[in-house]
Amino acid sequence: MYDILIKNAQLRRKAGLWNIAIEKGIVQKITKKPVRGKAGKVIDAGGNLVTESFVNTHLHLCKVYTLEMMDSLALRAYHGADMGGAMTAIELAARVKANYNEKWILPNVRKALKLAAINGNLHIRAFADVDSKAKLIGLKALLKARNEFKGIVDVQVVAFPQDGVVREPGTVDLMKEAMDLGADVVGGIPWIEFTEKDEQTHIDEMMKLAVGYNKDISMLVDDAGDATLKTLEMLAVRTLEEGRVGRSLAHHARAMCLYPTPYFKKIAALLRQAGMGVVSDPHTGPLHARVKELLEEGNLVCLGQDDISDAYYPYGQNNMLEVAFLASHLLWMTTYPEMETLYDLVTVNPAKCINLPKFELKEKANANLVVLDAKSVCEAFRYHKAPLHVISHGKLIKAADLRG
Ligand SMILES: [Zn+2]
Repeated sequence: MYDILIKNAQLRRKAGLWNIAIEKGIVQKITKKPVRGKAGKVIDAGGNLVTESFVNTHLHLCKVYTLEMMDSLALRAYHGADMGGAMTAIELAARVKANYNEKWILPNVRKALKLAAINGNLHIRAFADVDSKAKLIGLKALLKARNEFKGIVDVQVVAFPQDGVVREPGTVDLMKEAMDLGADVVGGIPWIEFTEKDEQTHIDEMMKLAVGYNKDISMLVDDAGDATLKTLEMLAVRTLEEGRVGRSLAHHARAMCLYPTPYFKKIAALLRQAGMGVVSDPHTGPLHARVKELLEEGNLVCLGQDDISDAYYPYGQNNMLEVAFLASHLLWMTTYPEMETLYDLVTVNPAKCINLPKFELKEKANANLVVLDAKSVCEAFRYHKAPLHVISHGKLIKAADLRG
């Protein structure tokens, strides 16, 4: 007796049609032969593609749908062609935090997480601003939402000192409180400090927290049009010094696109040594990390949603097929093999970036999967429609039952 049996499924990089049997949250069987035994629910995939569910390693979840509360000053500063005003944008965007209140944050968060569930985006690393303005208001809202959506959309909450650590006195203590409240990941944004010495202090302080609480690190590094920014390198070095290979993740690193090639190659090698992946969101800024070249160098890379309708980006619906569709244009990855790579960048690669166990779709894997409304990856990107069925932890998701 199985919980769910999916019939007539196409699988990526495999010929023919397959049956997938799920029981107790685990993919028990993937076979071309008819599956013996009964199933509580039978889904006929009708030749559509069945894959791992989607993973989003970068979302500013406490700020979703705040665009309407803002003017467009921050957006204009962040999206200026050379990204010279990126720091100004962050300062302008911080104004929304003067009004932070769980009463409006939590409904917004639920709305975004319900969309994630509908779109089969079942694992999200979500940033909550922690600073003198936001205090712990956003973080507490995300912790609540994490518990509400547990087993449907798994949220990892990042305590994120968006406005700096050295330039924002009191942040270290707030960050400690955030970790005590149960945040899953230590965040950081070292490039925003005023001097290189302060950037190093920022990284060191957050590393101390991560080691003390035994948590992974996710830092937004070098997110401006300035090739001399070095916080990506600094984080990789510090990670190696602490012997924490595979426990730091770099986000944005947009300055990378301006690096001279010899420095780029050196950084790529350093990142591989530190087991550090790079999350790129090419649709949310005019510059982006060198995704294709990193892949050629054998580095771990994935794509993130970054923002949903906030001061930095006006669109977004927690749909990773949409993110991949946009990236296909912005990175000029439009051949069939490149589409397959892009699909990895929103499924198995981000899963590796945030250390999700048994994620790849095979027997004995955790049963987090989607039955797409498409027969190929190309078709999936072309229409970027929500999946026909979403299975989270071995259970079929019913969108109507979700809050949001
Ligand atoms: Zn971001």
